[in-house]
Amino acid sequence: MSAPVDRTVVWPFDDAGEPGPYFYARYAHPTGTAAEAAIGALEGGDALLFASGMAAEAAILLAFAESGTTVAVAEGCYFGTSTLVRELAKFGVTLIEFDQTGPPPAEAAIVWVESPANPTLSMPNWEAASSTGALLVCDATLSTPVYLRALDKGADIVVHSATKYLTGHHDALLGVTITRDPERTAALQRARTLYGGAASADTAYALLRGLDTLEARVRQQTSSATELAARLAAHPAVTTVRYPGFGGVISFDVPNPRTVETSLPSIRNSTSLGGVTSSIESRHRWEGDRIPEGLLRLSVGLEDVELLWGDLKAALSN
Ligand SMILES: *Cc1c(COP(=O)(O)O)cnc(C)c1O
Repeated sequence: MSAPVDRTVVWPFDDAGEPGPYFYARYAHPTGTAAEAAIGALEGGDALLFASGMAAEAAILLAFAESGTTVAVAEGCYFGTSTLVRELAKFGVTLIEFDQTGPPPAEAAIVWVESPANPTLSMPNWEAASSTGALLVCDATLSTPVYLRALDKGADIVVHSATKYLTGHHDALLGVTITRDPERTAALQRARTLYGGAASADTAYALLRGLDTLEARVRQQTSSATELAARLAAHPAVTTVRYPGFGGVISFDVPNPRTVETSLPSIRNSTSLGGVTSSIESRHRWEGDRIPEGLLRLSVGLEDVELLWGDLKAALSN
């Protein structure tokens, strides 16, 4: 059974002239509420949907940072996160990047880890991250709740780009936050309403649809990625392979990334990750010297692993 897509934006007040649970869709709508209940149950907290992963990130920062706040962001994590925090310098917010395998800087009021980091695939040190008293945010996009419940690890807020694995088909732009503290949820909901980051009913539906197959998809992607990571590591043209042991993302370094990424018939040369179709890209085009020049980020889809390996092997011998 799936929830209906209700695209209503305005609901009438009740007979006494009072607004009911739904009155204007920027505040809440029924398809969004159904999708929030589903992802909230998987993460073990109260979820809110946003128009994109970045809209969710922006709401967290706008709700919890103020002039004078230092935000410590894990090095080598999603490029948009550090770029966004840097942008908030004009409001008096300071960015520090730190190695998330060790302790965060003591002066940070907000600590932002990513498990695993995209695209360097480092993992946070939970004990160190959760012991500073700072607000701990975890971007769990690459893990999904199948492999991580970050609230159980000590995160105060979990954030996802649901554009990736949670919806899973490269056809919906969506973000999610999950918290266990009603006051934090209320602050995020207020930020969503005021800054206008609400998700549509259609993308909320895409999340419900995606969650039906989430576990089956990510387990299959893990199985293929585990095999591909091992074969890549044994290939003489590959210098470094990063793979955390679960999930569908592998990053590996080659001397000729632009040639490899454009020579793979079964793997789309595109940005993004987490879909049922495989994709690969050189991240240097976006991130510059923040990451190795030869780094390719491969997102393994649901295609046959031998098909994917056949293409990779051929491209690596170019
Ligand atoms: C893609 C991504 C984001 C940003 O999400 P959008 O849905 O593109 O706005 C944030 N974090 C991670 C880890 C991502 O991969």
